[in-house]
Amino acid sequence: MNVILMGPPGAGKGTQADLIKANFPIPHISTGDMFRDAVSKGTDLGKEAKKYMDSGQLVPDEVTIGIVEERLAQDDCKKGFLLDGFPRTVKQAEALDRALAQIGKKVEAAIDIYVPEDVLVERISGRISCKNCKAVYHLTFNPPAKAGVCDKCGGELVQRSDDQGEAVKKRLEVYAEQTNPLIEYYEKQGTLHRIDGNRNTMEVFADIKKVMESL
Ligand code: ADP
Ligand code: AMP
Repeated sequence: MNVILMGPPGAGKGTQADLIKANFPIPHISTGDMFRDAVSKGTDLGKEAKKYMDSGQLVPDEVTIGIVEERLAQDDCKKGFLLDGFPRTVKQAEALDRALAQIGKKVEAAIDIYVPEDVLVERISGRISCKNCKAVYHLTFNPPAKAGVCDKCGGELVQRSDDQGEAVKKRLEVYAEQTNPLIEYYEKQGTLHRIDGNRNTMEVFADIKKVMESL
C-alpha cells in the first residue's frame, strides 16, 4: 500500500494518519514531524528548515525531496507507506514518482481531505500537541481530560509556533498556490480520492478506510 495523504493545514491529516496506522501495517511518514524533530534536536537540517517553517513557507524542494527519498529507502517501507504532508509541490510529486519508478513502485492512492477555510482556521488556532509523544488535541473539538496534560503519556501540551499569527495565513496561501495543483496531478493519474473532512473524525476515517481496503 503506497498512499499519500493530502489536504490543507488543519484538514486532519495527522489525526487520520494515527487511525490509519492503527489499522494498516504501514509506516506513517510526516515531513512536518521530521522537520519539527530536526528543529528540536538543533541539527543542521533543523536550523535550515526553521527559517521557512516559522514564516509559513515551504522548505525548499531539494532539501525535502532528499529527506523523503532517504526515508523511503528504509526497510520498513518495503511493505508500503503513508506519506503525510508530502508531496506539497508538483516538483516534489514528480520526484516521488521518479524515485518510486526506480524501485518498481508507484503511488496507489492520493487521498485528499478537503475542509472549508473558516473551519481550517478554527482547527489550526485550537490545535495543541504533546511535546513528548506528539499526540494531537484540540482545545474545543478534542480536549484532553486535564488541561495542558497529554492523556496518553502525561507530557506537556503546547501550541505549535506556526499555528499562531501571520504564519497561519501564509500557510493557507502557500497551500492554495503550490499544493492545490497536485489535485489535478493525481486526478490525471487516476489515483485521486477526495474525502469531505468537515465531519466528525470517525466518519472521515470510515471513508478513508474504504479507499485503503480497495487497494
Ligand atoms: P493536519 O495534520 O492536516 O494539519 P491535524 O490532524 O493536526 O491536521 O488536525 C488539526 C486540528 O483539528 C487538531 O487540533 C485536531 O484535533 C482537529 N481535528 C482533526 N480532525 C478533526 C475533525 N474531523 N473534527 C474536528 N476537529 C478535528
Ligand atoms: P505540517 O506539519 O505538514 O503542517 O508542516 C509544517 C511545516 O513544515 C510546513 O509549513 C513547511 O514549512 C514544512 N514542510 C512540511 N512538509 C513539507 C514539504 N513537503 N515541502 C516543504 N515544506 C514542508
